[in-house]
Amino acid sequence: MLKGIAASAGVSVAKVYKLETPKVVIEKKTIEDADAEVAKFEAALEKTKTDIEGVKERAAKRLSEEELAVFDAHLMMAGDPDLHDQVVAAIKNENVNAEYAVDNYANMAIALFETLGEYFKERIADVKDVTFRLKCNLTGVMIPDLTSINEDSVIVAHDLTPSDTAQLNEFVKGFATEIGGKTSHSAIMANSLEIPAVVGCAGVLEACNTGDIIALDALDGVIVVNPDEATIEAYKAKAVKFAEDKEALKVLKDAKSITSDGHEVELAGNIGGFKDVEGVLKNGGEGVGLFRTEFLYMDSKDWPSEEEQFQAYKQVLEGMGGKKVVVRTLDIGGDKHLDYYDFPEEMNPFLGYRAIRLCLDQKDVFRTQLRALCRASVYGKLCIMFPMIATVQEFCDAKAIFEEEKAKLIAEGIAVADDIQVGMMVEIPAAAVLADQFSKYADFFSIGTNDLIQYSMAADRMSQKVSYLYQPWNPSILRLIKMTIDGAHKNGKWAGMCGAMAGEPKAVPILLGLGLDEFSMSATQILNARKQVTSITYEAAQELAAKCLEQDTADQVLDLVSEYMA
Ligand code: PEP
Ligand code: MG
Repeated sequence: MLKGIAASAGVSVAKVYKLETPKVVIEKKTIEDADAEVAKFEAALEKTKTDIEGVKERAAKRLSEEELAVFDAHLMMAGDPDLHDQVVAAIKNENVNAEYAVDNYANMAIALFETLGEYFKERIADVKDVTFRLKCNLTGVMIPDLTSINEDSVIVAHDLTPSDTAQLNEFVKGFATEIGGKTSHSAIMANSLEIPAVVGCAGVLEACNTGDIIALDALDGVIVVNPDEATIEAYKAKAVKFAEDKEALKVLKDAKSITSDGHEVELAGNIGGFKDVEGVLKNGGEGVGLFRTEFLYMDSKDWPSEEEQFQAYKQVLEGMGGKKVVVRTLDIGGDKHLDYYDFPEEMNPFLGYRAIRLCLDQKDVFRTQLRALCRASVYGKLCIMFPMIATVQEFCDAKAIFEEEKAKLIAEGIAVADDIQVGMMVEIPAAAVLADQFSKYADFFSIGTNDLIQYSMAADRMSQKVSYLYQPWNPSILRLIKMTIDGAHKNGKWAGMCGAMAGEPKAVPILLGLGLDEFSMSATQILNARKQVTSITYEAAQELAAKCLEQDTADQVLDLVSEYMA
């Protein structure tokens, strides 16, 4: 039995298909004929492009346009003049062999993306994928063809590249990889294909061979290789139960999020762009509670123009078909960087020049985004919120800039919706404590627990060493959440939550009882949250929340919820 990370829910029992990544050995060689080497490289590059197009064509049977976009990114990368020119220059100037030059180029590009942080992980995977293909083509190494799988199988691999995952056909009943985390590309793809996946499972490759039987439990992150009959039966039963529960949840897709004694809340989804809209709707999302617009900026080579942003916001608003969309203005800084902007050196970037602080300083950047949002507002139901608000003054300054841009657009004869709500994230304890005053100015709050917890506990959310302090269930955090909700209600405003806590099954009843009006989470958590909301009474949730607020420790709160949920 091996342990890994459950990355895409489900259970499967099937035969192992062991994906052995071919070894490509790159040696540095001095070449005699640079022109011939360039020709060899260019032919391999062309073949790489044709191969990617072929994979895309085969994958198109199963994937949506958005999911296929990974191949467009690969084709763009393979067609990047920078790749071609740098490799050709290395061959000509240094007389090195093409595969060595490609390998060098790949290492440089990967090193660069690594310095740009967490959000560029996908790019790194793309560079590896494309340059691996290219190196295989240069050295005559065959890449295994996953589309040839024709019996029920669980793929076991060191890792799956984006093109591997895109080739998975209906016979693939799940996969297990040695590396990767919940947010790695393969995990995201597994979720969208709805196949079980366990990732980060060290030793799995060595533990099995093609043809072995494997029980893949991607609910608990467990793998059993060649289980006995009784174990097989137990996992098969677990798979059936999972499928039944999933079906039962689907019934709730269009249901109201209402408790059995009639208290209604809203369950929404968090998105990073238009590609996530379909997932929110498919999972019964009643709106978007957080559109993280920083991706638009991070995926761009320069500050995105007003027009580019307008198109992006319009697409999301239209895609949501009139359902509420809360767009968060640029939340950059901390660990999120831009290729085209030099952030000041700071001792504590998480406490430094970021988010609304940067926007209030770089007003042109802020104004461009607000104009784009105002223009898009007529295509749906738009709410705007500012991140990292610490003082009432900051909120009023930001809102005043919004009003100015809105007025300018109207004077220019451009239509702007007249019902745009303007709210703020509550993710700094100072804002939570003063929520009853903030709510005189803000139309709504959205609690960002990811940051609220790190700032309240003074514990960096990225640090492993102090992760024990990252305690959503600490009564101090619950009290800050209560202050925020009560503060909003005092002036007739609504309070939502878009931090990861909102979708945690153990948090849902407490938050409901504290009076939270809107919960925004990953799309795949929505139906489960709806099941929870519809299965309890508001009265019971209120009782539970009141008890939780009176505990001393996070563990005591967790015990209370577990008892309640049992
Ligand atoms: C939060 O802080 O809870 C939040 C939703 O924002 P982010 O995770 O993007 O900082
Ligand atoms: Mg935040």
